[in-house]
Amino acid sequence: MTELPQPIVGHLGATVAGPRNPEVEAQNPDILTPPVTDNGGIPNLKFPFAMAHNRLEDGGWAREVTLRECPTLKELAIVNMRLGPGVVRELHWHKEGEWAYVTAGRVRFYLVDEHRGTLVEDLEVGDLWFAPPGVPHAIQGLEEGTEFVLIFNDGNFSENETLLVTELFAHMPREVLAKNFGVDESAFDGIPASEKYIFRLPVPGPIEEARAELGAASMTSEYVFRGADVAETKWNGGATKIIDSKTFKATPMAFLMIELEPGGMREIHWHPDADEIQYYLSGSARMTVFNAVSSARTFDYVAGDVGYVPKNLAHYIENTGTETMRVINVFSKGDYRDVSLNNWLALTPSALVQGHLDVGDTLMKALRQGPGSVVKG
Ligand code: MN
Ligand code: MN
Repeated sequence: MTELPQPIVGHLGATVAGPRNPEVEAQNPDILTPPVTDNGGIPNLKFPFAMAHNRLEDGGWAREVTLRECPTLKELAIVNMRLGPGVVRELHWHKEGEWAYVTAGRVRFYLVDEHRGTLVEDLEVGDLWFAPPGVPHAIQGLEEGTEFVLIFNDGNFSENETLLVTELFAHMPREVLAKNFGVDESAFDGIPASEKYIFRLPVPGPIEEARAELGAASMTSEYVFRGADVAETKWNGGATKIIDSKTFKATPMAFLMIELEPGGMREIHWHPDADEIQYYLSGSARMTVFNAVSSARTFDYVAGDVGYVPKNLAHYIENTGTETMRVINVFSKGDYRDVSLNNWLALTPSALVQGHLDVGDTLMKALRQGPGSVVKG
């Protein structure tokens, strides 16, 4: 039997008598044995999708991390959804904006906006969409099925409380439906009594057929964005990609993809006006979050975990594994902004910096040399 790690740092700590949960402890080494710099009462900023209730439906599933799962998620909530070939997330709308990122397969996205603009687009891994509040839409898996995350700009959002076309029909008086559409009431004899939510349909035909039926005049593509249309920025130890409202005009939520090589680190920074939600795609990472007064806590993440950072709290992300770490960050504002600790100090007179921190010339020289070994935003 291998010996379990013990929470001991020098004279601090003691062995755990037990009972223990070694698998969970192994995924959270900085919770079991925090760095001695951790202090105070930072609330929980991690929730694995593996611990989120999964709603199983006809040919797909959906699970969510909202402020019910993790009370720090004030401004943003996240949903992870899988749809098999042809499987539909039914026509619906909601009060919050929906930002999406495709993580597997291919998907057809449908939307009709208030200007009678209609959108039918086939999207693949790395592509984005945004459905504004109140704007109805539907999602359908193509031949290979699909998986994606949806991020909503209100932590109180629930995927189980959206406004559905089936329920709208079920809850209008039949004579009103008949009058509204100018047909006989008997036209509605077969409508479902309750929601369909996620259900199987045949894989749809070529996209040109769907577009031809709707007419090219009203077609829009302003609510989707191809990830491949923005190039990565290379840094020492990794790469980043930003897609925000400067390029994807329809989105009020900015996106930052971060890739870190083993040992690579996204520099210490904070976001002056936006909360950040994180979805880890591969590898393993740690992050320390700093807040007033004298508070810091370090969290560990692996692929499939959700992280969160409230606005203005300083943080970094470090690859702690032996493979490439990939994470997406989504922000509650459309215009991406961060404040870099390195930039701040590099642009402050050295006598002032040295007077505060009692550091020597080595740090000041490193600051003046530019980004160095960290990944910037
Ligand atoms: Mn939706
Ligand atoms: Mn950040």
